[in-house]
Amino acid sequence: MSEKMWSNSGDSHFIEKPGLWHDFLPKAMADRMPRSERVNDDEEIIHVDGKTFTRALPKLSKKKDAQGRTIGDLVMAAPGARDLDLRMKDLDDEGIWAEIVFSSLGLWENLIEDRELIRAAARAENEYKATEIKGLAPDRLVPVATLPLLSVADAVAEVEHAASIGLHCIGLPTGVPDGVADYHRDDWEPLWAAAEATGMVLAIHIGSDNNGKDNVVYTGPGGAVLNYVETTYGGQKAATKLVASGALDRHPDLKVLVAEGGATWVPQLADRMDEAYRQHGMFVRPTLSRLPSEILFDQVYASFQHDRSAPAALTAMDYQNVMWGSDYPHLEGTYGHSQKTLHELFDDVAAEPSHRMRIGAFKELFPHVSDPPAA
Ligand code: MN
Repeated sequence: MSEKMWSNSGDSHFIEKPGLWHDFLPKAMADRMPRSERVNDDEEIIHVDGKTFTRALPKLSKKKDAQGRTIGDLVMAAPGARDLDLRMKDLDDEGIWAEIVFSSLGLWENLIEDRELIRAAARAENEYKATEIKGLAPDRLVPVATLPLLSVADAVAEVEHAASIGLHCIGLPTGVPDGVADYHRDDWEPLWAAAEATGMVLAIHIGSDNNGKDNVVYTGPGGAVLNYVETTYGGQKAATKLVASGALDRHPDLKVLVAEGGATWVPQLADRMDEAYRQHGMFVRPTLSRLPSEILFDQVYASFQHDRSAPAALTAMDYQNVMWGSDYPHLEGTYGHSQKTLHELFDDVAAEPSHRMRIGAFKELFPHVSDPPAA
């Protein structure tokens, strides 16, 4: 086995244990929070505050790892998937040092239409994340704060609360809740200002559209691939809105991470946005102080897990904010084969860009994290 290759992860999750909400919310509120009901090997039903939707589960991999273990079985058995105490051993075994930690079921909290409920849940959940998750390894685990997005004022208040208890990033779903202004609208200006002022990174995880519809859009031939690819567009659209509306231009210290959506879309999107900005310039409002490509390349970071072309976004297209992510402990992630994947991706990449994609870009967003052990 070749030498251990450490990497930070721009895309990881904790899986809420059954009954987690009841640990920190009154029962009447906790009963309305997201839960999953497994219906068969292919699908689960998500219940959130009286709403339900079906979600396709990733196909379990039947492939074997280098030791002959079935990867799907290994992932199902990831000891730290729900047990935070075992999580650090998994990370050490896999060669993952610091990681951004998204929710799993919590990604659907923005289906909640009760402003009081989501405000109380976000506050309690962020306290849990700051103590129980970050507290486990403050120099390695970077949990993503939940925001109540039904009210801009509530969102701003929670950004300030989350920052005050030591959280470093806030989660934005790819789509806003129904009835709420979209991300390119000026309504959100106070949130962008608050995030910039508190140094909070905006973390956008693909597939987190508020209504769940971006998870099962297609049935029939090709459906699994169509649906997975569909989930990646939401992150690209959110980034486009933040650049085109001038939000990132007005807040040059505001940083955005689009997680699990690959990396080469960024140079491609940069070209499309510059083309629109120049060739349709007579229609463009607002005017930006920099080209869209410059804003996108400077302030938007993108994480990928297996994509063979992703390192070339940095080495061949000069997009510096490429970041690896494990998606631990999700089935579509790299658990059980992280070292193999890292070596395949980075063995042929020069030391400096390899370090940037594994370690440096992440540390730029979260300078407080420590460095992995020297190889
Ligand atoms: Mn993920």
